[in-house]
Amino acid sequence: MATPPRTPLRHPVLVLAAATLVLSVLGTALVLSLRDGGDPARPGADTAATTDSGTAPEPGVQRRVARAAAQVADIVAAAAEAPYPKDPRVLVISVDGLASYAMTERDAPTLRSLLRGGVGTLNARTAVEATVTLPNHTGMVTGRPIDAEAGGHGVTWNHDSERTVADGVSSIFSSVADAGGSSGLFAEKAKFEMWDRAWPGALDQVEIDPGLARLSDALVEDLTHQRRDLTFFHIAAPDVAGHAEGWASRGYRAAVGRADATVARVLGAVGDDPALRRDLLVVVTADHGGTPGTPEHSDAEAQADYRIPFLVWGAGIESADLYDLNPDYADPGTEQPGYDDAAPVRNADVANLVADLLELPPVEGSSIGVEETLDVR
Ligand SMILES: [Zn+2]
Repeated sequence: MATPPRTPLRHPVLVLAAATLVLSVLGTALVLSLRDGGDPARPGADTAATTDSGTAPEPGVQRRVARAAAQVADIVAAAAEAPYPKDPRVLVISVDGLASYAMTERDAPTLRSLLRGGVGTLNARTAVEATVTLPNHTGMVTGRPIDAEAGGHGVTWNHDSERTVADGVSSIFSSVADAGGSSGLFAEKAKFEMWDRAWPGALDQVEIDPGLARLSDALVEDLTHQRRDLTFFHIAAPDVAGHAEGWASRGYRAAVGRADATVARVLGAVGDDPALRRDLLVVVTADHGGTPGTPEHSDAEAQADYRIPFLVWGAGIESADLYDLNPDYADPGTEQPGYDDAAPVRNADVANLVADLLELPPVEGSSIGVEETLDVR
């Protein structure tokens, strides 16, 4: 890992205010460009949509998502042929509420192309104890289960609160900072500010903004202008739509498409920047899924809630199934194994996968992905 100069920590509120002022114009422009109707003729696109179930998003939504994916198809395909980076940087993208069943070719063509072109699985798992946002995200950055009495990070609540992780719980952000590196967090939900309190000074940039267009503008600006070792990007849209209209509903599927087009937009920026194209490794996973036809995802024993995608894409990473590449992990079939059972790929593998990609030791005190380390090539 390189040791770039630290950029001063900016206060999230100031960042938010600045982002609101400076980026609202850009955000508006993006929204307008997403809404414009200048779609090139794509024979068959509309007829294909009519064969979908009654929950298919509007054809215009599907066309925009497909077009965004098509624009980055070359970038996605070229990565496997490129040399593996000498000094990788990592972008973790967590799509809140993205169930594996929802990551379809129709609704998530960019994510599917990353899954095809990189290494991954649609059969990864959440934490065992809970399938809700903050506990699972905190697992991703600590490499721990949830239950503090069993060595977990102790974040059992899922709301904005003054509480923080259990005593002595470290994170991948702390590891990066201790090694002289730089991390950034871009999240749509205010409860993520907890991480900045849990590990003071470990995050060099924190942006919390519930507007996905503005947040992704800020992310792209940061990715292309700062050399961070680790950037964590949280996209809330599918979860928000799932709670409002139900998982697998038309609105939910459209939100999955919006998340997918956002990933495409970020990949487009990566493709335009030679250094990012050479060095950036992208990890995509989710905190939890959700049960079709309900606004719920909190049943930790429901497969629709605990089955999530996990993929890694970037230069020098060749297409493979994550379980095929990692015989020390075990495909869990339809089950949710316990922590003492053969390990499935879990979202909490993110922490030590990132540590490994950045050539750092395992996160202090972590237990997931330590004895079995997730290989991506
Ligand atoms: Zn939720």
